[in-house]
Amino acid sequence: MRVAVINYADCKPDKCRVECVNFCPVNRSGTKAIELVEAMKGKPVIYEETCIGCGICVKKCPFDAISIVNLPDALEGEAIHRYGINGFKLFGLPTPKRGAITAIIGKNGTGKTTILKILSGELVPNFGDPEVMPTQDMVLQRFRGKEIHSYFKELYNKELRVVHKVQYVEVVGRLLKGKVSDLLRRIDERGKLDEIRTLLRMESMWEKESSTLSGGELQKLLVGAALLREADVYVFDEPSSYLDINERLNLSRVLRQLLGDKYVLMVDHDLIVLDYVADLVNVMYGEPSIYGRVSKSYSVRAGINHMLKGFLPSENVKMRDYEIRFYMKDLAEMEGVTGTSIKISWSGVQKSFLGFSLSAPRGEVREGEVVGIVGPNGIGKTTFVKILVGELKADAGIVEPEKSRLAYKPQVISPFTERTVREVMEDASKDSLSSSSWFYVEVVRRFGLHKLLDSSVSSLSGGELQKLMIAKTLAKEADVYVFDEPSAYIDVEERYVMARAIKRVTRERRSATLIVEHDLAIHDYVADRIIVFSGKPGVSGNVEEPVPLRHGLNKFLREFGITFRRDAETGRPRANKPMSYLDRLQKERNEYYAM
Ligand code: ADP
Ligand code: ADP
Ligand code: SF4
Ligand code: SF4
Repeated sequence: MRVAVINYADCKPDKCRVECVNFCPVNRSGTKAIELVEAMKGKPVIYEETCIGCGICVKKCPFDAISIVNLPDALEGEAIHRYGINGFKLFGLPTPKRGAITAIIGKNGTGKTTILKILSGELVPNFGDPEVMPTQDMVLQRFRGKEIHSYFKELYNKELRVVHKVQYVEVVGRLLKGKVSDLLRRIDERGKLDEIRTLLRMESMWEKESSTLSGGELQKLLVGAALLREADVYVFDEPSSYLDINERLNLSRVLRQLLGDKYVLMVDHDLIVLDYVADLVNVMYGEPSIYGRVSKSYSVRAGINHMLKGFLPSENVKMRDYEIRFYMKDLAEMEGVTGTSIKISWSGVQKSFLGFSLSAPRGEVREGEVVGIVGPNGIGKTTFVKILVGELKADAGIVEPEKSRLAYKPQVISPFTERTVREVMEDASKDSLSSSSWFYVEVVRRFGLHKLLDSSVSSLSGGELQKLMIAKTLAKEADVYVFDEPSAYIDVEERYVMARAIKRVTRERRSATLIVEHDLAIHDYVADRIIVFSGKPGVSGNVEEPVPLRHGLNKFLREFGITFRRDAETGRPRANKPMSYLDRLQKERNEYYAM
């Protein structure tokens, strides 16, 4: 079986010589596998039944508009939805379970949001045939005898009420008008207004106009709104985006607390959040924008571990050619011992804005060391790293050395140039695109940047731009690397590609790296020591000295009452379920972050 996908936005028959049609060997032999079609505005359509999957059109198209993958025939029966004739194709659907939180994890562009739309009843699936107009009866007919049938029957009979927290909070945010408290009061169907305000820590945003909210505040407003609705099915698409590390841990606790007896579906890329919140996990894999397949439901532990290992045992499928491995840390690493030579240090640093003051009494980062930075939004993390890289001048204090070779990935990224991805990468380092270098294989290719080399930076999506900025920063030879929120907009697999590359570059170049990040598992994966910010968001921030990861996270997690152990199989940090044996034991021992 074949899936042939044409990216019609990139296909320009008036600017090419229609190589795809002219060179197709099936066409040349007199049968039609691909032709220009009037109804598609004169663009080509590939007929998968006659196409032999030779890939000649893929290679000949000057705009890389065609992708073809060959898949096992047995998969055809699992087709759930197709967007258009040569559009993305989804295989498989998770079965929601009442009283369980079902998570979907995996690569972007493989159909996670599509699944949420189908299970919310917003999209009626066409089972892979975009030429039929699907109906709810057809869906019920197709699922007859399957466990998921009763879910759809109740959903379509309106016996299940669904609330859906969408992915792009900023889009909804623009449509909202009025004060947060008024908006939420109007929809408080569960009589939980005060509880939600306290649980989600919304006090400081309660009287704000919704049009003035930050990304994190908007996320809390929409999650809060979903939780106030009386429904049977709660759907959360990427609830941790824009939230700081404190709010993510808090959100995880609140969701478990309030939705125990409901159907809950969620998509997220933060492994700590998923591990704490979910009961079941479905892993997505495939080729972004071409096809996606969902695994069967695994327990949360097994699902995340299979995703990390890149192998699904029940399906006998290898998802990718490498493993994401959290290796067990040895004692020296637990104590944060790396090189002795200091690459950057600060003392007595002070900075004030109207209403906000930052203080960084002392600290240093040594060669070969990665230092993670954690703290709530608005506590001064970005201000601090901007002072370190010389973008902001401190009111007092010293940063040494004054001049070092720096590479900096700022928090806010914008399409800064009309130049191409290739030009930007070659500017950062001449060798970065040499196909035999580890950097090309492990960063450029795994980020998918090799397919975008001739694209203009201004045409990239948020995730693509983030990956380019990370790659460009890493490609540069520097003494000090600074990354401010690098995992925003990128998926779970890409986060570990990034983390692994950061570690390798820091160790091999004997440089020093600081990384501001809200995904705790990334800190565990990459950081040797950690800086915890204390203070009051929006008022004052205090930069504590870097301490070994174990001590820093132990102190930090105590505040939330969430304990972590280490997974025996993969070494990743795992949140203990509240009141479980280990949770109680570790709390007794004051060991919130076990190594
Ligand atoms: P994910 O949530 O995993 O990032 P989505 O479900 O949003 O993936 O989309 C999967 C793919 O389906 C996208 O890469 C896109 O190519 C395609 N797609 C999504 N929505 C539409 C649509 N409305 N019309 C056509 N194609 C779509
Ligand atoms: P974080 O990175 O921890 O979210 P920031 O360093 O961005 O925190 O901001 C800390 C505080 O300083 C916030 O209250 C922010 O509003 C304020 N702030 C940051 N930059 C400026 C500026 N250029 N002028 C005035 N206030 C600022
Ligand atoms: Fe031209 Fe490529 Fe479109 Fe074919 S797919 S018409 S070769 S742009
Ligand atoms: Fe023709 Fe080969 Fe392209 Fe199929 S893959 S449409 S057979 S050129």
